Formats: sequence, C-alpha cells, structure tokens
Amino acid sequence: MVIVMQDHAANEAIDETVRRVKEMGYGVNVSRGEERTVIGVLGDERQIEWEHLELLPGVERVVRILKPYKLTSRDARPDSTVVRVGPVAIGGEAVVFIAGPCAVESREQIIETARAVKSAGAHMLRGGAYKPRSSPYSFQGMAEEGLKLLAEARDATGLPVVTEVMSLEQVETVARYADMLQIGARNMQNFPLLQEVGRSGHPVLLKRGISATIEEWLMAAEYLLASGNARVVLCERGIRTFETATRNTTDINAIPVVKRLSHLPVIVDPSHSTGKNEYIESVSRAAIAAGADGLIIEVHPHPDEALSDGAQSLRPEAFAGAVVNIKRVAAAVGRK
Ligand code: PEP
Ligand code: MN
Repeated sequence: MVIVMQDHAANEAIDETVRRVKEMGYGVNVSRGEERTVIGVLGDERQIEWEHLELLPGVERVVRILKPYKLTSRDARPDSTVVRVGPVAIGGEAVVFIAGPCAVESREQIIETARAVKSAGAHMLRGGAYKPRSSPYSFQGMAEEGLKLLAEARDATGLPVVTEVMSLEQVETVARYADMLQIGARNMQNFPLLQEVGRSGHPVLLKRGISATIEEWLMAAEYLLASGNARVVLCERGIRTFETATRNTTDINAIPVVKRLSHLPVIVDPSHSTGKNEYIESVSRAAIAAGADGLIIEVHPHPDEALSDGAQSLRPEAFAGAVVNIKRVAAAVGRK
C-alpha cells in the first residue's frame, strides 16, 4: 500500500502518518519529493483499515497494491486448480459439460433428461430443487422431493449432480443429496451462506452476481476459501447491461480476466446469460474459445411445458448437436 500525501503537506502531518502506520505494526518507506511525499507501507496491507488512513490530516489518497483477495488469487497459487466432483475434473485439459433442466419437475422429466444428456456427452447433471424466482407466485421447486429425484437420476446414470442451495437452513439437506452445491447469482454476496457452504466441504459452483464486478465475485470466492473450502468453480452467467435483446450479457472478457487473476476454474452458463435457446451454441463456442473450463446448459425434454426457463432450454437433440460443434472448438484451442 502507498500513502500519497497532499502537495506540500506539513512535516507534522507526514510524521503523524508514519507514526500511525508503525503503531499498526507495519514498516514504512518514506520518499520525500520536491512537492509531494509518498509513504510506502511494508507488510500485508489486507488487514489495514485503509479508510482510516485517508482521514488523517495531509493525506491525499491511499493506493492499494495487493489484491484484496488472497487465497483466490493466482499469486497465492500459480498453478490452476482442478476441482474434482466424483469422477469429473473441472479445470483440467478436458472441457466439462453440465446439463439438465432449470428445475426438477417430476421423476420422469429428470430421469429422461439425465439419460439424454448423458448419451449426448454430458459429464454432470444440473437441476434446481429450490428455485430463486423473481415472483413469489411462480413455481418454487420441489424442495427435498426434488433432491431425492436428483439422487435417483444420479444412481440411474452415474452423473454427479449440482443443485442450488438458497439459504443457511438448506445447506445440510442439500449437501446430503448433491455432489456439488450451487450458490446462485442472487446469493453471491450472502456471506453467512458462503461461509456455511464453505464449511460443508462440498465442491461449490459460485455464480457471478447479476451486477457484480469481477473483484466482488472473487471476494465472494474468498469467503469460501477462507472457510477452508478450496473446491470452488466460478460460473459466468451473464451480467445486467443496458441491452434488452438478450436476458443478460455474457461477459466473455471475464473468462481471460478471471483466469489471469485467479487459479480457480471458470465455466459459462449460456442459458442464463442469453435467455434464448437459439444463442446457446454460439455463445458456448465463444466461451470455450476464450478459455472457459466448461459449460452449464439448461436442457428440457419439452421446453414449451417447462415450469421455469423453458425459453433458454435446449431440447436433448439440440443439446447433442451443440456438444458436437462445441467439441470442435475445444479441439481447435487445444482442449479435450
Ligand atoms: C439457475 O441455475 O437455474 C439459476 C437460477 O441461475 P442464476 O442464479 O445464475 O440466475
Ligand atoms: Mn434457470
């Protein structure tokens, strides 16, 4: 951290700032210029309440050097993390496909979808049992009954299951059935939930908040890692912009940016990021070309009858076709 003093700050102000920094247990390196003095703070600045320093007389601004996330940063772990979910490795050479309906609706629906996505090449099954819906009058999910059906679908196909956990009270129940816990976009900054899911030790799929910056997203991941859980996969699911032609805007930039800043795997959800099934395949190809480690795609046997997100769900045959084309891009960029 560097403290920039105001133009011609009084010596007393400089001395007082140095005294305060030392009192906090940090070293200092004072560089006195013609007009301005700059004080370098030596030590791990992430513990410092830097806003306090900005209030001191004569201080113009405080500039942070280190990233506020520590465990999530690539500085902490230069090699990319591979997150294992049962037999599936996310973040390795192979691109991972996660597919399934937005919500579990019935035994028939989830088993049929699980079998279809498996034969199309999916590695994991998705499906919500607890659904975060914008309207309290919309279908809210089958709750524990839905979790049981997901476990049945896993038994029938061998596909590990990822499903959303929406509240602290649900963590234990969801963890009993699921192989991976999803934190949804709306809960990305639910800090007690992040801590509890972190403590569960289960692999976590952390979706990016609808209006979250990359730094806020990585700080949310930091909560999980700081709770002792390093099995975190980040998911870009589109952010809110001024554009209305699509439900959200896929932030393709975020993929190389996150890959540079963090060692965690990152996957893309083109269903929620576009909101329309016709764009899923192209955006998926773009995501893989940009370096994403996988995709999570909504698939429903009868999208026109889906209880949620039908418009952004592929029919199983369309998913199978998309997988073939996406794999061509994966091969072109040196992925399996
Ligand atoms: C979902 O995966 O169905 C979902 C609700 O996702 P998000 O939290 O990204 O909106
Ligand atoms: Mn959905």
